[in-house]
Amino acid sequence: MSTKLEGKSVQEWIEEYPLLHKLIKMDEVLWVNPHYNAKNKNTNLSISNISEAAERLQRFAPYIETVFPETKNTNGIIESPLVEINKMKKAMEQAYQLDIHGTLLLKCDNDLPISGSIKARGGIYEVLKHAEELALEHGMLKTSDSYKIFASPDFRQFFSQYKIAVGSTGNLGLSIGIMSAELGFKVTVHMSADAKQWKKDLLRSKGVNVIEYPSDYSKAVEEGRKQAEADPNCYFIDDENSKDLFLGYAVAASRLKKQLEEMDITVDEKHPLFVYLPCGVGGGPGGITFGLKMEFGEHVHCFFAEPTHSPCFLIGQMTGLQDKVSVFDFGLDNRTDADGLAVGRSSSFVGKTIGNMLSGCFTIQDQRLYNFLRELADQENIFLEPSALAGFFGPIQLASQKEGEKYLTNQKLQTNMDNATHLVWATGGSMVPEEMMKEYYRRGVHDNVE
Ligand SMILES: *Cc1c(COP(=O)(O)O)cnc(C)c1O
Repeated sequence: MSTKLEGKSVQEWIEEYPLLHKLIKMDEVLWVNPHYNAKNKNTNLSISNISEAAERLQRFAPYIETVFPETKNTNGIIESPLVEINKMKKAMEQAYQLDIHGTLLLKCDNDLPISGSIKARGGIYEVLKHAEELALEHGMLKTSDSYKIFASPDFRQFFSQYKIAVGSTGNLGLSIGIMSAELGFKVTVHMSADAKQWKKDLLRSKGVNVIEYPSDYSKAVEEGRKQAEADPNCYFIDDENSKDLFLGYAVAASRLKKQLEEMDITVDEKHPLFVYLPCGVGGGPGGITFGLKMEFGEHVHCFFAEPTHSPCFLIGQMTGLQDKVSVFDFGLDNRTDADGLAVGRSSSFVGKTIGNMLSGCFTIQDQRLYNFLRELADQENIFLEPSALAGFFGPIQLASQKEGEKYLTNQKLQTNMDNATHLVWATGGSMVPEEMMKEYYRRGVHDNVE
């Protein structure tokens, strides 16, 4: 650990930010963001950018409905259910011997159509946007056309001249690969070592070129970027820097608002909304946070969840080092069963854009992911992949840690907690093969891991 980071040694960083002691030991921590609500000069994105993305998805809806019939009942809109999980709430209260005040909801992105994870939001959106741009540019399309024509042989033929590439730990590759291949693109997915075999197999069965790396996610992205740059017909989807991915994720917020209204759930000064989002590079949870802040302002409180072995976003935010630091710099190994969150270096674009909107971050150990997995299956018959369980520790940490209590007091939330809504964002799971899910389930135990 002798590297210098922005002129300071690792030891100096640890002295400046004592929470790093615990992070290095892989203790589970809750970090509250001291820059929460500070003025932000780092973004020129606004709600109109999100509306534009929502309108684009609307234009594509007739096409999506045509090629992915599982989206028929939402008329080609890729959206997931929002459900109350009261039995799970009771089980958590019992296991952890505390009260979770208010209502516990689950946002079921595990059930998102087409690719079964949160990546079906940003990933598919960016592919569609690129396809639209190419089609307009080459006179194939007028915006007044029905986008059903994207399913025609002419369009598939046209897109087959073009390539799309992406680096991924698995789920982003799945979303981009499936969507790009359906449109007719030649698509290459650069997979990190964490990526599960079944995801690679599935992609290959759809004609996607999968390149495997023995290293982690950052390396897969770097290689993908390099190879794509050498080819003018290749479009690289850049998980670390893409505004389009970010905006695709952000569209979730206005739709969630509608779902909450339909459930008669109020969000205002007296009815705070807490949202717990599993975080890898930051794009998914960051985009959603950005959107939620546009919809609910100070009444929504967003917390990110990371594995104890990969707390890159927390470290990047806390130190302000953003993508200039990786978890390896502090001796962590970025090894976790939460493959969707196995990222050692966060996105500085996302970190800067939402740096003042984020309430805090917490970490969770892998065993606890399995315990939540089993409990959720037993109580609610909902099966998630390990990454997707990370948010469940949020309401518990908020209620049990001193830092959490301080946050609630400082934000003047203590008296309104009985009216609170806690929303855990379930980010993936429906595509996991049954055998593998059974194995995950077996790893869970009922008591908590203190
Ligand atoms: C990718 C992913 C996340 C996190 O999204 P990032 O954009 O990497 O922060 C969370 N859960 C699952 C299941 C994922 O695949």
